[in-house]
This record gives sequence, structure tokens and C-alpha cells, in this order.
Amino acid sequence: HPLWYIRAAMYLVGILHTRHHVTFSACDLILRVFKFVFENAPSDSFRGASTMPKTLITVLSALDMTDKFVVHPICYNCHRMFDPNLGSDGFCSACEIPLFDTVASVPVANSLPLGDTAVRPVPAAKPIRVSPLQLPSHGLIEFFKRPGMFQAMNAWKTRLVVPGEMRCMQDGEVWKSIKGPDGESFFHGPSAEKEIRVGVTLSLDWCFRFGRKTSNYGPSHSSGV
Ligand SMILES: [Zn+2]
Repeated sequence: HPLWYIRAAMYLVGILHTRHHVTFSACDLILRVFKFVFENAPSDSFRGASTMPKTLITVLSALDMTDKFVVHPICYNCHRMFDPNLGSDGFCSACEIPLFDTVASVPVANSLPLGDTAVRPVPAAKPIRVSPLQLPSHGLIEFFKRPGMFQAMNAWKTRLVVPGEMRCMQDGEVWKSIKGPDGESFFHGPSAEKEIRVGVTLSLDWCFRFGRKTSNYGPSHSSGV
């Protein structure tokens, strides 16, 4: 955004959300309050505030911070995953149940005030359940495309180490002792100096499946890499 004070508000909610897990609705509220303040400020310094984004989704999109997932329809019964380009009549052959909400695809006659009738635009059929997918190989390419990531990935090598204190993952025994395919230390061996070594951790939130919200991302994200 060309206006510095609007950029500052956008960065603020972007950081609050990604670093401190402030919810979408709370960030939307912050943006609306900032917009109100800018628009009603007595000074002319805040002109142009009408172009300020009002939702976190718009901010994340403008800052290129959105998820890079491919969303696949899945069977709500057996959780088989299907092609994202599957037609709205797709169904799970194993369970013999539809994958899309057929009610949403039925045209609805709509009465107009003058007695005429019109047909509302048919809403696209939505999958009953979906699963976002991103392969680690693709995610890493996107990750390293961002400026400064190579330096950031090696920053642990020059961090402050206090003997006897565990301050980060790199102070742990696994990081120090895990071996690569050449039998040398994966992160500390001679070949590790010549290339970027990436450690991948997996986490699963099985509670999501039972409808329990365990984090701000609970309803839509149940796993992480
Ligand atoms: Zn199924």
C-alpha cells in the first residue's frame, strides 16, 4: 500500500496473527478501528484512509502471506482424497456416498416484489469436506524464493549458546547427533557446510477429528510440518 500509516496497520495485524495467534475477527476489528481513526483524524496527514483494507484476509493476500494449498475434496466417511477438478457429481465409490453438497446446486425460484419470478444464480456445489494439501518439496521452493531465507536458515550456526541451557531446538541432543545418509552428523558434519540442511518436524492434532477446537487454526488445520 502506498500510504505508510496504512502499511503500518497492515504489518501490525499480520504479525499479531502469525506470531501471536490473534484471531481473524480480532484483527478485522483492529483494522476497522484504525480506519475509523484515520478517517476522522483532525489533520490532513491521514488522507486516503478510505483505501485501507478492512479484513485480515485482504491484508494477508496483499502481503502474499496466504496459504499455498491445493484443496482436495475428501470423503467425509473414509477420508479418501480426490482430484480437485472432480465434477460436482463426484462420489466415493468405496462408501457410495456423494462428495458434494447437492442441495446447494439446485436452482431456486425467487419471487420478486412485482410478482415476477426469477431464478437466482446457481451457487457452485461445495464439497462436503475438503483437505488442504501442500507437498514439502513444493513448500520448500516457495519458502526459499523469499529474500533472506538462506541466511535465516543458517542463523542457528551463529546463535548465542549458553552451556547447560536449552534455548532452542538446535541445543537438543537430536539436532547434535542425528546422522545423514553419509554417516556424518547431518547438521554439523563436513558436508553440511557446503549446503543448506533442512530439518522437518511433523505434528498432528488428532483432536481436530472429534470437533474439538484446540487452537485458532483448529477448524481448518489439523496438521503441520
Ligand atoms: Zn469413502
